Amino acid sequence: MIPVILLTGIWFYWVYSPPGSLFPDDYATPVYDCNGSLLRVFLSRDEQVRFPWKNVTLPEKYVVSLVTFEDKRFYRHDGVDLWALLNATITNILSGERKRGGSTITMQVARLAAPKSRTLFNKLLECAAAFKYSVHFSKQQILQIYAAHVPMGGNIVGIQAASWRYFGKPVAELTWAEAALFVVLPNSPSAMNLGKQREKLLQKRNILLQKLYDNKIIDRLTLDISSQEPLPPTDNQIPFLAPHFCYNVTRNVAPGRAVHTTLDAQLQQQVESMLAQEHRYLRRLGIANISALVVETATGRVRAYIGSQDFFDDRNGGQVDGILAPRSTGSLLKPFLAAKAMDKGPYTINSLLTDAPTWYGTFAPQNASKTFAGLVTMEDMLVKSLNVPAVRLLYSYGVRDFYLFLLEAGFSNLFRGAEGYGLSLILGGAEASLWELTQLYASLGNLGRVTHLTLYENEGAITPADTLQLFSRGSAWLVLNSLRKLARPGSEFYWTYFDNQTPVAWKTGTSYGQKDGWAIGVNRQWTIGVWIGNFKGSGNAAISGAKSAAPLMFTLFNSLTRRDEPVWFEKPVDDLVQVQCCEQSGYPTGPNCPSTMMLERPACSYIPGLCPFHRRFLVNKKTGKAVCSLCWHGVDTTHVNLFIVSPQVKELLEKSGQVVAAIPQHAENCPQTRDENRIEIVYPVNGIKIFVPRDLDGAYEQVVLSARHQRSDARLFWFLDSNFLGETTLNHQFTIDLAPGAHVLTVQDDEGFIKKVRFSAYKRE
Ligand SMILES: [Zn+2]
Ligand SMILES: [Zn+2]
Repeated sequence: MIPVILLTGIWFYWVYSPPGSLFPDDYATPVYDCNGSLLRVFLSRDEQVRFPWKNVTLPEKYVVSLVTFEDKRFYRHDGVDLWALLNATITNILSGERKRGGSTITMQVARLAAPKSRTLFNKLLECAAAFKYSVHFSKQQILQIYAAHVPMGGNIVGIQAASWRYFGKPVAELTWAEAALFVVLPNSPSAMNLGKQREKLLQKRNILLQKLYDNKIIDRLTLDISSQEPLPPTDNQIPFLAPHFCYNVTRNVAPGRAVHTTLDAQLQQQVESMLAQEHRYLRRLGIANISALVVETATGRVRAYIGSQDFFDDRNGGQVDGILAPRSTGSLLKPFLAAKAMDKGPYTINSLLTDAPTWYGTFAPQNASKTFAGLVTMEDMLVKSLNVPAVRLLYSYGVRDFYLFLLEAGFSNLFRGAEGYGLSLILGGAEASLWELTQLYASLGNLGRVTHLTLYENEGAITPADTLQLFSRGSAWLVLNSLRKLARPGSEFYWTYFDNQTPVAWKTGTSYGQKDGWAIGVNRQWTIGVWIGNFKGSGNAAISGAKSAAPLMFTLFNSLTRRDEPVWFEKPVDDLVQVQCCEQSGYPTGPNCPSTMMLERPACSYIPGLCPFHRRFLVNKKTGKAVCSLCWHGVDTTHVNLFIVSPQVKELLEKSGQVVAAIPQHAENCPQTRDENRIEIVYPVNGIKIFVPRDLDGAYEQVVLSARHQRSDARLFWFLDSNFLGETTLNHQFTIDLAPGAHVLTVQDDEGFIKKVRFSAYKRE
């Protein structure tokens, strides 16, 4: 009696103690696109395509077929079907062979969890385990566990993996014939690779379909159609799409979980094929690599991600992900400097900037064309991508502030401080990845609101917490409209190619040494970034943002943009103010500007600055020379309003045929011209001999010329011998390389007064 009680006790203890997990937690990592299409699977640790199964809804067709075929009293028994076991035993005895097992689905789960040889004793153990499972798991869970772990041939485990492997679709889309095949397949181990015994397998499937018809689960028509369905071909493969992307999205996630991403597999393949076509052309020019990123502007969701021209192109580093590599930004940051400068003021997009030879210490920026226009509008600077006015604008805006802006915008490859980059920051001195730059242009498309690019479908793109405005909506709008204009360097071919197509605000960039060609564009629907170059870092005369990266970018825009939806941005009228501006200079009207027009600028602009060009002079009517209260006695005077530019700009403008006024020279007889304190040349003093010193490396040091002016707001123009050096404001210093010999330094102020010193320079050998 006691042993019976004891055994019963042990039995109940065993049955009701938790079963733990039946299978080791070792699953593959499937990566899905935004529509639930499988992109790629990373194998489990034991190298199986075994999909994670929790939260997977089993398709009804499969469940019904499975229960009909394997275990028709599944929903009624407690894990063990005694009637089926008895039936199977009798059948086997009568036929003299083991034809049927009488195992329930639950018992098969037990066998999958702990495979054992087929003995009577082991069968009893399976029965016991099945009974225990039926206590702990719902019928639904048992079906899920079975469907996820049943072997389906090779390293394919479970029906999800099989569905992608054999039919290239999710289980929810299985037909009756396909579902039935997955039910009979594990039952025919020899037919599992679908290569052998196809006839027998087909027959078996059709018997199951017939059974479904007999049980009134499917109708006659379904039976007829389903029975005609062929078996899938044997050479179908598990998808292997967007390899760089899939690697990137799984880098930081726990393995064995499904990864739902923002990628659009269809769009990805479309972009890949356009890129491959472009690559065939670029390859002949010696350009080995291309990367492209396609992002939904409003949400920052990445819809296509092509790390290289071809993942399998081993010769050209195809496995490298060019989207993440930091590279010189070329001219791509100019639009953002324009936006930041307008936010600060006093600029409008039409404000004139100086485009003339400029020196900051030894740094003398050049335009790509190696020419200077004298004066250009801020819009020209963007559209023609001029370097000189951009550097000058950065100088007046402040390198440090712009550097901080780049950090705010998410640039993570700035390894030096602001001073380390200096003014070259705006010409590609710093590095950023295609990812970071595309993100920045997406932010421009969201009118300045920081837009984090996202790869995961469940990640909210722009959240209320992300309301950081990188620059004002008003500036963003003005810049977007400028970038839409198409006056680009390049042949007529490109001109027409880029014209009359989808509206896009775009910018190209070519890095120093022609190592990188960039083109990034944005409209309301898409932000698309393209990089071309060589992963090896070699430069190439054919590498150009406008000529080799922009065509692909436009091909993508033209084919992806949906014409029936808004393409261009809504004007942020509340963030723009109308300002009365000088018609000639594009700055807010000063007291001397002859004609005005209304221009828009961002509402936040806080530096008032008026037109710096139009100035009023009191002159001698006869001689045209300037006069002041000290020298106007007995002179017939008049006021003149002149558009005054610096001497170097004047020279450039005159070369291009324009008539430009000069600052009227002051009357010679004025006592002020004898005022030694008006302009003071501090160094060098008159008559000095300068011995140019050497630095620690033995190179000759530069010499700092220095002056002072009575008025703190004076502009000084510097000439050494007959060469114009440049102009200074506030801090009147000039650093130059001084040649040996005799020199004359001339400094002129903005009212026409002049001061000269003579000195000589010597260099010791
Ligand atoms: Zn003016
Ligand atoms: Zn005077």
